[in-house]
Amino acid sequence: MINITFPDGSVRQFEQGVSGLDIARSLSNSLAREVLSVNVNDELWDLNRPIQEDASIKLNKFEDPDGKHAFWHSSAHLMAEAIESLYPGTKFGIGPAIENGFYYDVDPGDEVVITDGDLSKIEKKMKDLASQKQEYSRKEVSKEEAMQFFGDKGDEYKTELISELEDGTISFYHQGNFTDLCRGPHLADTSPIKAIKLLSVAGAYWRGDEKRKQLTRIYGVSFPKAKMLEEHLELLEQAKLRDHRKLGKELELFTFSQRVGPGLPLWLPKGAQLRERLENFLKKVQRDTGYEPVITPHIGQKELWVTSGHYAKYGKDSFQPISTPQEGEEFLLKPMNCPAHCEIYKSKPRSYKELPVRLAEFGTVYRYEQSGELHGLTRVRGFTQDDAHIFCRPDQLKEEFLKVIDIILYIFKTLDFTDFSTQVSLRDPEDKEKYIGSDENWEKAEQAIIEAVEAKGMENVVVEYGEAAFYGPKLDFMVKDALGRKWQLGTIQVDYNLPERFELEYIGSDNQKHQPVMIHRAPFGSMERFVAVLIEHTAGKFPLWLTPDQAVILPISEKFHDYAEKVSKFLKNCDIRTLIDERSEKIGKKIRDSELKRIPYLLIIGEKEQENGTVSVRRQGEGDRGEMKLEEFAEFLQSEVENQLKAIETNI
Ligand SMILES: [Zn+2]
Ligand SMILES: [Zn+2]
Repeated sequence: MINITFPDGSVRQFEQGVSGLDIARSLSNSLAREVLSVNVNDELWDLNRPIQEDASIKLNKFEDPDGKHAFWHSSAHLMAEAIESLYPGTKFGIGPAIENGFYYDVDPGDEVVITDGDLSKIEKKMKDLASQKQEYSRKEVSKEEAMQFFGDKGDEYKTELISELEDGTISFYHQGNFTDLCRGPHLADTSPIKAIKLLSVAGAYWRGDEKRKQLTRIYGVSFPKAKMLEEHLELLEQAKLRDHRKLGKELELFTFSQRVGPGLPLWLPKGAQLRERLENFLKKVQRDTGYEPVITPHIGQKELWVTSGHYAKYGKDSFQPISTPQEGEEFLLKPMNCPAHCEIYKSKPRSYKELPVRLAEFGTVYRYEQSGELHGLTRVRGFTQDDAHIFCRPDQLKEEFLKVIDIILYIFKTLDFTDFSTQVSLRDPEDKEKYIGSDENWEKAEQAIIEAVEAKGMENVVVEYGEAAFYGPKLDFMVKDALGRKWQLGTIQVDYNLPERFELEYIGSDNQKHQPVMIHRAPFGSMERFVAVLIEHTAGKFPLWLTPDQAVILPISEKFHDYAEKVSKFLKNCDIRTLIDERSEKIGKKIRDSELKRIPYLLIIGEKEQENGTVSVRRQGEGDRGEMKLEEFAEFLQSEVENQLKAIETNI
């Protein structure tokens, strides 16, 4: 017998060789039907893999990330099996589970093209195969055997992958007539896969290398219940309606011009005003918390980036240097603001008494991204960071780090991102060459972040190895939007390396020279990314204090245009952002259009309103508020804004 420990700490005895599925069955039949994978001593295992010694286990259902992962990964294998049976001779790249489903990169041969029109056929085949309750079975194979199998099959993608693996670590998974190179884990069999939807077909270069062959990537999603699939598809539909690229255009916030260049956003007046208000909000928070504004240029001499280490790390894959015609100097577009801020720190001698120095800048940076990777405002080539650098003494590091966490949490709360998680990104201990700086500095910096997170008692924290920036570890904030999607926004990074490279100093109380520690932080990440997320989160219905147009005046006919002008003038004098819809459309259409433009207040004026010196007020999405005198409406709106701003002013 062996001892099995459950997550609640209870221990039960089972026969040696018992599987996760056997254990689930012994607990209840309904659990056995729902369980998808098992963690054995924190390692993810197949449900049917025998457990040979004492272990602690956790049974994963679909709700658990590890359960979902096994489910979607198994669905990818199922899709591959379906494709192989419909398109014999297809070769397979990789087929992972992803955040919302799975994909497989396939090469059906040069003669065959798989398009969106073929997806329902593949889907149907998958459902047939799933209902056959095919078992997923694991087999350890030698490297030679593995090469032999896929060599005989003529699948050069798999043999390339196998050639990079170490003998003794290779396993195959097999279901029905399909065999895949795979580490697993998988479901016990195909029967839980009840609802399947293949979503789209895209091109994807083998191993992400544009010089290699383009494979066909098929995306899909699957669920154990039809109702879950329906809900998911509904969510995708809603996400489409909230797509910031679509709303950005409809609400006239930003645009792109091929002539200006891909990935370089152009902020339209309404978008620029919205962004300015966000910046002002942040500037106020920063003023209140001891930051000082600075401004630095968009380019810097190549030497600057050689000193910072950016050139060695990114030089080749970056925008190339700009040269001056006469002197032969070389400049780079700035990919980061930090080096210039280091030079500002250095512009005068610093004493321990004046630390921390907190320098803030809305700094526009330029980073090269492949044109195929660009996406609306979330993946761009030029963007403005809400950046700041804190230079402090080592003994101030933890406190400063905690203060930055407070600012970020406050900003998220103000803008209604109440659901968030954090990721502590550390160095990959196996591959230290990727990073600059000494081991000792890295360890100190990593420790400071871990301690700060612990001191805050933060929940939903994950630690990821190998995700650190090349110069230091970081803490990233992921917010969940109204549809439950995760976005990465704010980031805080500790850095002992740039101060060393730039030879930053302060005179300590001992009259000796010391090196400050640097914190990089950007609560929004970038203005572009933040506005994109805000659009998708609010579906374009921004809070009243932030929204570009607060009220639209809708005269019911041309006769009332003069009065409309008068109302507009009055409201503008009260600092209310107003516009007039003077089109000769029916009032019903004007109302509908204004609602599509997400304008919070609609002010309808006709004969009666003109006579009474009033407006008839409608609140977007809430209906009539009745007739109001102009002063009355102005006060009404202002007090709503004031209440919002007051809530924002809560102390951090
Ligand atoms: Zn696999
Ligand atoms: Zn920085």
